[in-house]
Amino acid sequence: MYPQGPAELSAGREQLVSYSRRMLDDGLAVGSAGNMSIRLAGPATSAGTVIITPSGVPYPDMRPEQVCEIGLDGSAISVPATVSSETPMHLAIYAATDAGAVVHTHSAEVIALSSVFDELPAIHYAIHALGGAVRVASYTRFGSDGLASSAVLALASRRAAILQNHGAICYGRDLSEAYERALLLEWLAHTYRLARALGEPKILTDAQLEEVAVEARRRHYGETQWTNGGPASEAGRGGQRPDRPRGSARRRGDAYPSR
Ligand SMILES: [Zn+2]
Repeated sequence: MYPQGPAELSAGREQLVSYSRRMLDDGLAVGSAGNMSIRLAGPATSAGTVIITPSGVPYPDMRPEQVCEIGLDGSAISVPATVSSETPMHLAIYAATDAGAVVHTHSAEVIALSSVFDELPAIHYAIHALGGAVRVASYTRFGSDGLASSAVLALASRRAAILQNHGAICYGRDLSEAYERALLLEWLAHTYRLARALGEPKILTDAQLEEVAVEARRRHYGETQWTNGGPASEAGRGGQRPDRPRGSARRRGDAYPSR
């Protein structure tokens, strides 16, 4: 979470514009698709606010002063342009997690995967940074409260989720971490597609991923406040790690295991 003050607000707006352009360059979105936000921590008496990219502004034209600021309850604080249609999803994620920033992409590999499978399995050990196998949230119209709810559900004990026939959502302690996770997710989806083209991929087990998480923490790979299953705080909220299937991804239509 970022502190809040005029300097942080200004820096946050600049950072959102910079990463939005990078999202275009990195192929994580086309046109003005996708969006991203940062949570600014408020003073002790305030819950803070969220700054979020505007809707419908082509990334090359986006300016920091067009970035909108809204309360965590959705109240408008500064809305100089049309606020992102996915604002409800961003707010729901901030309410459900300790995210400091959220990145929503429309990247090709995850969209292709989401149209066939219900999950991106552990094709590579780096997926531990996302909390394990990444779920695909069932299709719900963009901008809807239903999409916000299904995204939060798919994010349980994870830092990334794929939205069926839509895109992906990732969060992190700051915008850099959230963005790196979006890149990682797209790379993992690409790698999984390559593997599927060759045959039936071998998938890492929960025990193997846990071993990776333990070693990453020992080496201080930025995981000190996380467990393999997600934010350490989730255990305190009664969070539960859903079962993960092994062997291959579930195809569309198969139910999630109960959680
Ligand atoms: Zn979208």
